[in-house]
Amino acid sequence: MIPLQVVFIALLGLLIGSFLNVCIHRLPLKQSIVFPASRCPHCGHVLAWYDNIPVLSYGALGGRCRACAAAISIRYPIVEALTSAVFMWHWWVFGLQPLFAVRIAFACALIVLFAIDLEYQILPDVITLPGIVVGFACSLFLPPGPLMSLAGIVAGGGVLWLIAEVWLRLRKVDAMGFGDVKMLAMVGAFLGLKLVIFVFVLSTILGGIVGVVLIGARRADMATRVPFGTMLAVGALVASLYGDAILGWYLSRF
Ligand SMILES: [Zn+2]
Repeated sequence: MIPLQVVFIALLGLLIGSFLNVCIHRLPLKQSIVFPASRCPHCGHVLAWYDNIPVLSYGALGGRCRACAAAISIRYPIVEALTSAVFMWHWWVFGLQPLFAVRIAFACALIVLFAIDLEYQILPDVITLPGIVVGFACSLFLPPGPLMSLAGIVAGGGVLWLIAEVWLRLRKVDAMGFGDVKMLAMVGAFLGLKLVIFVFVLSTILGGIVGVVLIGARRADMATRVPFGTMLAVGALVASLYGDAILGWYLSRF
C-alpha cells in the first residue's frame, strides 16, 4: 500500500503546486484566485486542460505559449515540482496523520510567501493573517498546543515588531516591512514558542550567508536587502520538519 500512497501524494503535490502558481501570479496583482481560467499573460490565450498539466505541459510546449510563443516563466514547473517534493518529504517525516495535513497546508503558505517575497518583496496579508488564525485553531487539538501557539504568536510578532521599531528610531530606516512581523506570528501560531525562536535565529543566519554569497558574487552590495520573508520561509520549513529533532539534539548536549 505504501508505494500507492507516495504516488497519490506526489500527484496531489503537483496539482496543488499548480494552484499555488495561480496564487503567486495573482495575489500580488490583487486578482481572484478562482476566476477566470488560466490564460497566457502575454496574449490572453485561455489554456486548455492539456496545456495546464503540471510540469509535463511546460516540457511539451518547450516553455512557450502555444498561441503567441511568449516564454512561460520557469517558475511554473519549479513550483509544481517543489510542492510535490515537499509533500512527499512531509509524508516521509510525519506519515499519514492529522499533523501531516496541517503541516502541508502550512508548507503551501510558505511556498507562496517565498515566491512572492522573492519577486515583489511583499508578504500579502491575505495569507499571513488567516494563517495566524488557522495555525492557532489547529493547535487547539495538535502540537504545539494552544498555549505554546499563543506564546509563539506573541513572541514571533512581538520580537520582530520591537526590532523594527528600535531600528526605525535609531537609524531612521524601515528595517522590515510589517509583512515579516505577521509572517513570523503565523510561524509561531503553527510551530509554537520554542520553534519560532529557532526559526528566527536560523533565518537570520541564513540571510547573512546568502547576503555574503551575493556580495561575493557581486550580485549585491551592502545596502541590498535580502528579502527576509524568503529566509523565514526556508527556516520555517526546516523547523516544521526537523525543528523538534534539532532542538532535542542541541539541548541534550548541556
Ligand atoms: Zn500567449
